[in-house]
Amino acid sequence: MKFDSSRRKFLQAGLALPAAGLVSSYQPLSANRVPQPTAYRMLGKTGLRVSAVGSGVGITPDPEVLARAIDLGVNYFDTARGYGAGESEHITGAALKGKRSRVVLASKTDARTKADVIKDMDASLKALDTDYLDIWHLHSRDTPDTITDEAVEACLLLKEQGKTRFIGTSTHDINAVVDTILKIGQFDVVQTTYSYALNAPFRQASIARLNEAGIGVVAMKVIIAVAGFVPRDVELKDDGPLAAIKWVLLNPAISTTVPYVKNIAELEMNVRAMTEPYTPADEKMLYVRNEAIRSRYCRMCYECKGQCPKGVPVTDELRFLAYNDFGGNYSQAHDYFSRLPQKIRKVHCSDCEVCAIQCPNGVDVQKRLIRAQGMLA
Ligand code: SF4
Ligand code: SF4
Repeated sequence: MKFDSSRRKFLQAGLALPAAGLVSSYQPLSANRVPQPTAYRMLGKTGLRVSAVGSGVGITPDPEVLARAIDLGVNYFDTARGYGAGESEHITGAALKGKRSRVVLASKTDARTKADVIKDMDASLKALDTDYLDIWHLHSRDTPDTITDEAVEACLLLKEQGKTRFIGTSTHDINAVVDTILKIGQFDVVQTTYSYALNAPFRQASIARLNEAGIGVVAMKVIIAVAGFVPRDVELKDDGPLAAIKWVLLNPAISTTVPYVKNIAELEMNVRAMTEPYTPADEKMLYVRNEAIRSRYCRMCYECKGQCPKGVPVTDELRFLAYNDFGGNYSQAHDYFSRLPQKIRKVHCSDCEVCAIQCPNGVDVQKRLIRAQGMLA
């Protein structure tokens, strides 16, 4: 990703702003509002007022961190049925006991059939110990065919039954599915990858289209990669995550963010992004780090999709590796890798003399895939 002049102008626009308003009401991006950090934002047309820094609770959330997040004003919590085979929802439900009405709670299903989506919802409600969700997402839908008619039908039925107030979909490739999402016209919320390291004009354009349609946009993967290079169980020594979240919040089309936080110190740092301005020092830090990870971090641009003659899903395998290398989460990386078809898991990139893929973003694809397969297979 080049640090091009259009991007620089966008950032300069953000830097020129007054420090902060407190609440922003929903307005489409086309209204040309200047980006500014706000503590709470409207989640599209849902009417839900969400903290600009939310909580991606992850596979093994720490109940003390979740409780502290609520104390600090964080009110958006995101989990998934598949995280730790339900363990994430179970821990989250216990941590939110007695506080359910104070939070906006989202979970996700990997199911594709109507029956399985409904079954997953019942399991999620039980694990989360609640009668309803605020948002029920179809999880990780990176191609249009994964947003199946019957899954959408099931979501609408669950909404009608009051088991979820709103429905959404999450995706790593918003560019591939934005047309489908808008054509279906039923989703209230979309959760997608968006960060300094993952920025690209096409991603911004798709997010703007969702915003203009009144769909609330939740940014994920906001701090991974540029936040730091230390394992997650080691306390971060600087405020890289803070800078990374502040950068994401420059975009007024983003309603909230769902960074995964390991400990209270990191949480307390992250929430400062809701009101602190993005500074030249933040920009410098992110720029330097972004360059430092160029050969190792896949930007999920999907330019190499379908290019491997042996069928390796390059972007997916590199994303799983990033969960370990940049997120310090081996179990998540291994879990996702193990869900790939056996035939794919048996491909060894070390057997190729030359890799067919030349990444335009400078990722050393073959070297990274060899590492992924060696570590996660
Ligand atoms: S490996 Fe390169 S081309 Fe392929 S998705 Fe990642 S950044 Fe894009
Ligand atoms: S090294 Fe070979 S198997 Fe691996 S992605 Fe490149 S072409 Fe495909």
